[in-house]
Amino acid sequence: MITVTKKFNFPIGHCLLNYDGPCANIHGHNIDLEVTFGIRHYMSLDNAGFVIDFNEIKKGIGSWVEESFDHAFFVNPMDASMLKLLMDRNSKHIIMPNNILQYGDHTGLYNPTMENIALIIGVKAYNFAHLKNLIFIKVRLYESDTSFCEIEL
Ligand SMILES: [Zn+2]
Repeated sequence: MITVTKKFNFPIGHCLLNYDGPCANIHGHNIDLEVTFGIRHYMSLDNAGFVIDFNEIKKGIGSWVEESFDHAFFVNPMDASMLKLLMDRNSKHIIMPNNILQYGDHTGLYNPTMENIALIIGVKAYNFAHLKNLIFIKVRLYESDTSFCEIEL
């Protein structure tokens, strides 16, 4: 296996419901994201000798992340007062989906945790890998220097 990883960085805001801890407060994180793709064999390198050009990952994933998530507030759709505030102020926000993999309704899937944000990015990266004939390896999302969530589909 030969893999390549591209890193991105973007600040977000969030707060968690059904949780008694620091992330229950309205606050932000400076998120580091790593996206990894692979091929099984050197014979699968492209004609330039790449698994994939890093610039293509930047165009396909980085631009989407920046447009969608940079300085956005991730909100639990059950958090009515926060949702109203964001909408009243026309502030950039993402309403957390809970059915991205059609697991059905589950309260834990509504909260904007690193796990659930990584899932949104993981699905995008998985689809990107499929389009480019690559293997999706993983998405790693750092909430801080010492805490990250890693997802493989
Ligand atoms: Zn937090």
